This record gives sequence, C-alpha cells and structure tokens, in this order.
Amino acid sequence: MAQTVAQPTANTPAVPATLPLKAIAPWAVFFGILMLVLLYFVGAEQGATSVVSGEDVHEWVHDARHLLGFPCH
Ligand SMILES: [Zn+2]
Repeated sequence: MAQTVAQPTANTPAVPATLPLKAIAPWAVFFGILMLVLLYFVGAEQGATSVVSGEDVHEWVHDARHLLGFPCH
C-alpha cells in the first residue's frame, strides 16, 4: 500500500520551536480560573461557604472531595 506524505513547501509556515507567551497567556488564565471554580465546587461548596442551596452540588462532587482529601463529614 502506497502512502503519500505531504512535503512542506516554501509557502508552508514553519512551526515555531517555542510557543510565544502572548499566545498562551489568555488560555492559561482561562483554564486557571476554570480550575479554581472547579476546586471551589469540589472543596468548599458546603455549609457556610455554599453558593448553591441544597446538597445537590455536594453530592455530585462528593467522591472527588474525598479523593482529594478535603474534609467532608
Ligand atoms: Zn463525604
């Protein structure tokens, strides 16, 4: 079975060896905030620090809470 591989031409932009920080920074901030929100819901969404009333969020993340060693009950 013959396979064809596209060869880069002079018009093909070369992939930079390193990614520029300006290109990564917005995504790093976005995922950092996303992870902080997730960490809040796993670790602190209970009792006095609860944003969402009821036990639904707590029950959804209960196993993750124990897995990460947050105090629970
Ligand atoms: Zn628990």
